[in-house]
Amino acid sequence: MMGSFIEVRDLTKIYHVGEQHVEALKGINLDIEESDFAVFMGHSGSGKTTLVSVIGGLTKPTGGTVRIEGVDIWSHDDKAISKFRNKKIGFCFQSFSLLPSLDVMNNIVMPLIFANGGKKDRDKIREKAVSMLRELDMVEKVAAFPSELSGGEQRRVAIVRALMNDPDIILADEPTGELDIRTEQEVIEIFRHINEEYKKTVIVVSHTLAWIEKAKKVFVMKDGVLYENVADPVTLLMGGC
Ligand code: ADP
Ligand code: MG
Repeated sequence: MMGSFIEVRDLTKIYHVGEQHVEALKGINLDIEESDFAVFMGHSGSGKTTLVSVIGGLTKPTGGTVRIEGVDIWSHDDKAISKFRNKKIGFCFQSFSLLPSLDVMNNIVMPLIFANGGKKDRDKIREKAVSMLRELDMVEKVAAFPSELSGGEQRRVAIVRALMNDPDIILADEPTGELDIRTEQEVIEIFRHINEEYKKTVIVVSHTLAWIEKAKKVFVMKDGVLYENVADPVTLLMGGC
């Protein structure tokens, strides 16, 4: 029988730093369905980035499995994992922010042009970028540099870049970090749109409570342990349980 779209079982991650062992994931189990909108809340250091990096094929787990459409992604070699990443997942991670020396168009198309090994389909890729920028009200900024954009505009460019390879899954780590409340709402609305209109599976890590009402599934992480179907995530985050 086919399991969930994303099925995580007994997932552990231990980081070894000198003599220290940090248990970042302590046996995580979770299921996410196709077109789900899942949000992971939790304090800094609780293991959120580690978890989404393992799900996205970026960080190798210590134990357990991540199955996506039935495929145990970590059973493959590096080349196959990177192929899976490029095809299936759009990353919107803070650490992959925009390159200051490239304009908006080049920030969006460069990763895909590199992945395609150079010249192939350049015009098509640019056309797609323009049409997605238009959809997010950003087409007039196509030649702007990141330093000429507001925080919200920069996020929109990063979102377009993440969508360029038409991934099934969007993984976003703190996509509303350091934004004012109004811009934060705009960015949340874009993710909702991507989920509802494009039917993408959206997985977001954030400590902003504003996601809770938009998400279909809310998970709370505390010290490497995941809690699901939490009736009151705020109380849990504030100490509780
Ligand atoms: P969050 O995203 O919730 O802030 P992280 O997944 O970044 O949490 O971190 C979880 C724990 O793992 C923390 O104790 C952190 O210090 C540790 N950690 C994360 N990445 C590394 C790493 N590359 N090497 C060593 N320890 C790490
Ligand atoms: Mg983090």
